[in-house]
Amino acid sequence: MNSFIFLTVICTIYYCIYKYKPEYIEPKYNYYFGGFIAIYLFVIYMFTYENEFMYKMFKNIYDTSRQPLYTFNAKDSNAELYNTLNNTLNPNGDIKSMLCQKQGNRCAKCQNYIMNKDLDYYKLKYLVPLQQGGQNNVNNLCVVCPTCMF
Ligand SMILES: [Zn+2]
Repeated sequence: MNSFIFLTVICTIYYCIYKYKPEYIEPKYNYYFGGFIAIYLFVIYMFTYENEFMYKMFKNIYDTSRQPLYTFNAKDSNAELYNTLNNTLNPNGDIKSMLCQKQGNRCAKCQNYIMNKDLDYYKLKYLVPLQQGGQNNVNNLCVVCPTCMF
């Protein structure tokens, strides 16, 4: 409702200027003003009656700008995995413990047992190195002990 009061006030001011000080108003200003009114009414209409559309549009913009960039071009994205991480001290912790379970708590190279409490010291390694065409996704990773890293 406030927006309509504002619109009425603006129109009244414009009309007063037009009526009492016509020398200030060039003919082209009438078109500008008309355009402004049209856009203003359109915006009011969108926000009042097309609420769902506006909500979806802004939500889409918000979601898109919050996505990490690599989700747009990576074939297999790790974004979901990264979004679940809340541990800043050991950001790869979830991946490591998940892979470790998959490997039956054994180093992928030397098969030595991996203690869960020492998992921070163990390293992530690509099964197929990126230089040889390996994919940068979690299916191409394994956990190895620091000495098996190279
Ligand atoms: Zn090892």
